[in-house]
Amino acid sequence: MPWFTRGRRRVTSRWPAHPDSYRDTFPGAVTPIDRPGEAVPAEIPAVCPTGAISRDGDRLHVDQGRCILCHRCVRQYPERFRFTIPAPAAHRDLLVVPALPETDDALAAVRAELARRTRLLRRSIHVRHVDAGSDGADEWEVLALLNPVYDIHRLGIFFTASPRHADVLLVTGVGSRGMAAPLARTLQAAPRPLVVIAAGTDAISGGLVHPTYATSGGIGDLIAATPDSAGATGAADGDPVRVDIWVPGSPPTPFALLHALLLAMGRLQ
Ligand code: SF4
Repeated sequence: MPWFTRGRRRVTSRWPAHPDSYRDTFPGAVTPIDRPGEAVPAEIPAVCPTGAISRDGDRLHVDQGRCILCHRCVRQYPERFRFTIPAPAAHRDLLVVPALPETDDALAAVRAELARRTRLLRRSIHVRHVDAGSDGADEWEVLALLNPVYDIHRLGIFFTASPRHADVLLVTGVGSRGMAAPLARTLQAAPRPLVVIAAGTDAISGGLVHPTYATSGGIGDLIAATPDSAGATGAADGDPVRVDIWVPGSPPTPFALLHALLLAMGRLQ
């Protein structure tokens, strides 16, 4: 049910059924501006503190999975970079914009595999959130999903306190090594099929700190190091657990999180 303020103005977003002006204008990601035929100054990639910018001939690429949205590139080179709407991806490589040469067959296989596993989740899902070393910023955005503006219950999405009831694992944080064992226990306790979402730049790549003695390079590394990532609870099909959906942003916007959850339900492409 939508929420209304006292003046009877509707505050609950109707996205994705209807466009939402806030979602469509929020600067939640950085994209290079293509300038064909113009040489790219060699010093541009060095502006980025996380190495998210790379140069390929006369083209620049931004890895949105490493971008912490510090704004330095847009401020210093406004003719080369602009803000765009963040879009979650079902393949890590798709977070590099413009896209690197990629085999269409590989992408199609990833999408088909996700669709196969999410067939049962279309109507309603329960989400277990795991903080694997976050600074707290991601959690504010996750919490916002429950407020009257986003109101995810209208879409049949609910949070659960137990991994045993979870269809989706929403993981935030840099992947601190201290969370390796709790994350492994959560993965083992969750039933299958299970969709894993890496929410935010920290979870995707480790963010500003990258791998250190205390942190991994994102939760993908942490999950890959999990002793039994094939899972123990109801993993009849023997699917190894892996990150299925990558949500860029530092922190990711509530709309980007919502987009990822709808991808997990197979309701968006
Ligand atoms: S906004 Fe992102 S891509 Fe640009 S300099 Fe900062 S971290 Fe790098």
